[in-house]
Amino acid sequence: MKKIKLSQRQEGIIKLVKEHEPITSEHLASKLNVTRAALRPDLAILTMTGILEAKPKVGYTYSKKPSYSLIYDYIRNIKVKDIMSQPVVVNEATTVYDAIVNLFLNDVGTLFVENNGILVGAISRKDFLKFAMGGTDMHKVPVGIIMTRMPNIVVVNEEEDAYEAAIKIIEHEIDSLPVVIKATDNDKKDAFKIIGKVSKTNITKLLVKMGERS
Ligand code: ADP
Repeated sequence: MKKIKLSQRQEGIIKLVKEHEPITSEHLASKLNVTRAALRPDLAILTMTGILEAKPKVGYTYSKKPSYSLIYDYIRNIKVKDIMSQPVVVNEATTVYDAIVNLFLNDVGTLFVENNGILVGAISRKDFLKFAMGGTDMHKVPVGIIMTRMPNIVVVNEEEDAYEAAIKIIEHEIDSLPVVIKATDNDKKDAFKIIGKVSKTNITKLLVKMGERS
């Protein structure tokens, strides 16, 4: 885990807290010859990262936890089910043309493909572009022919960490993951039903939400 880079003033605050803990922000401000308001952003960063702990009416103390742990704990507590959204799913027999219409109508970049309620594939914008460049009649070909198929589909389940989903998106260089549950009524080992999706947009929205909280 990478250590957070601190400013000189933040390092100074930590030193003072270590020497004088518990110490109030008024006290810290007077020792550093600045106003309390000027210290506020630094103290916010130091408490948010878990380096310092703020105890009401007592003051700041140096945390025994490793410095990244609060943000780390916060991120690791967010599950796929907290950030997933509705998937757009088409049947394997849908024509490429109808699937492209679906892509536009639902304003998504990836469609997931099912057959009898079971996930069988995924198809992206570039898959459609590649097909279009080939010049084949898109009214005649079903998406099942051009999609990426199972078992090559990267999936997540709703109890996995949102962080793990982000890693999968980066590692596999894909835009979207289907959120799945095991299909118990199917004999196949890797038979999944689609219950949601996590895309780069969901991850970006999460980042925005985290920014609002701080
Ligand atoms: P684009 O091709 O529009 O940039 P992606 O990067 O998501 O979109 O897709 C890259 C390739 O990966 C495509 O061929 C697509 O069919 C496939 N793909 C899309 N989603 C998944 C997934 N969840 N698992 C495996 N392959 C996928």
